Amino acid sequence: MNRDPAHPAPNPLHDRHRAVLPDWLALYYADPLELSHGEGRYVWDTAGNKYLDFFGGILTTMTAHALPEVTKAVAEQAGRIVHSSTLYLNRPMVELAERIAALSGIPDARVFFTSSGTEANDTALLLATAHRGSNQILAMRNSYHGRSFSTVGITGNRAWSPTGLSPLQTLYVHGGVRTRGPYAHLTDAEFTAACVADLEDLIGQGRTPAALIAEPVQGVGGFTSPPDGLYAAFREVLDRHGVLWISDEVQTGWGRTGDHFWGWQAHDRNGPPDIVTFAKGIANGMSVGGVVARAEIMNSIDANSISTFGGSPVTMAAGLANLSYLLEHDLQGNARRVGGLLIERLRAIAAGVPAVREVRGRGLMIGIEIVRPGSDEADPAAATAVLEAARAGGLLIGKGGGHSTSALRIAPPLTLTVAEAEEGAAILERALRTL
Ligand code: PLP
Repeated sequence: MNRDPAHPAPNPLHDRHRAVLPDWLALYYADPLELSHGEGRYVWDTAGNKYLDFFGGILTTMTAHALPEVTKAVAEQAGRIVHSSTLYLNRPMVELAERIAALSGIPDARVFFTSSGTEANDTALLLATAHRGSNQILAMRNSYHGRSFSTVGITGNRAWSPTGLSPLQTLYVHGGVRTRGPYAHLTDAEFTAACVADLEDLIGQGRTPAALIAEPVQGVGGFTSPPDGLYAAFREVLDRHGVLWISDEVQTGWGRTGDHFWGWQAHDRNGPPDIVTFAKGIANGMSVGGVVARAEIMNSIDANSISTFGGSPVTMAAGLANLSYLLEHDLQGNARRVGGLLIERLRAIAAGVPAVREVRGRGLMIGIEIVRPGSDEADPAAATAVLEAARAGGLLIGKGGGHSTSALRIAPPLTLTVAEAEEGAAILERALRTL
């Protein structure tokens, strides 16, 4: 049991945090955690407590904490040059772009690097609207694509119109903030077959959207997958009408879902999407994002653009070392094997806990839905109680974000071992049994 009685005092940094940072910045735990360091799948807090990390810093620690290969690559590159800008030739950026272009499966692929997933999706929307000459975008209900004006415009819960295809009026963003997105029309499709027909209707009315953007497994939405075949059915309609498909792989890329390298591959056998966006884990925790698209799409905006920090040599060096490790050690295979065992184990535990409605997931991306026992009613307070109890037992997990406050999220570094999966499951079992 952690929460060492030798360190019972709340961390005074919390008060300083509250005094100077925005109130809307989410913090986990009533007594928030301050991490000091990490190694492998473990992290330590500044009070000396050790935790098994089942959230990988919001899926950013893709391989392992302090992976020596990445640390060495970062130190060596930082000792040479930290910043070179996209105005000059940048070897690590070209090399990482070559590898990602080849892995994307997109023909004649071009890669543009950003510093975050939000910027990657912003860029994808910019490309799609420029390429198709329309500023209508389709997004999925309960999706999350970022925090900028344009990505907030395709994120969140909206009142679902009877057809689901009304022009965008007002959006609800996290915490009840309302804003208007920059799109003339925006629809949010839900995970039902009916929205395939709705899509046809929309296009039939002459309002051909530029693109549909979707997460293969909704991340902030609580690690929820669309039903089998739904995205493939969308794709068929989109392709027929020349509407681009943007796959937001910020959480799902690089083999995390086990069976496939990219999340879209679980849904669609028709080949790669028109645009893929990525971020989070590729540089193992360094700020990164990017977009992959065919040259004709990528080049539909004006030349002579730069990105000050996109493709930073240090980040690119981290990405190259991290990606090499991931591929050489078949971490996708590890996610499939260890993730499969973990899902099985958690389902067995859940069978004895009435507050667990569902254990779902693919590979090492696992959601646990907490409800009021005997009902389907979400229970955010109980989910928070499990999060706290797991921490007290020495395990860090995640919670769904704005859309799915009663889902627990598990996304460990992809090097997770079977013994560590067992250790985490045992802690989680004790935490769930406190409900
Ligand atoms: N897209 C998805 C699917 C995400 O989960 C996130 C962040 O959680 C983003 C985009 C935004 O990425 P970032 O926080 O790096 O801007």
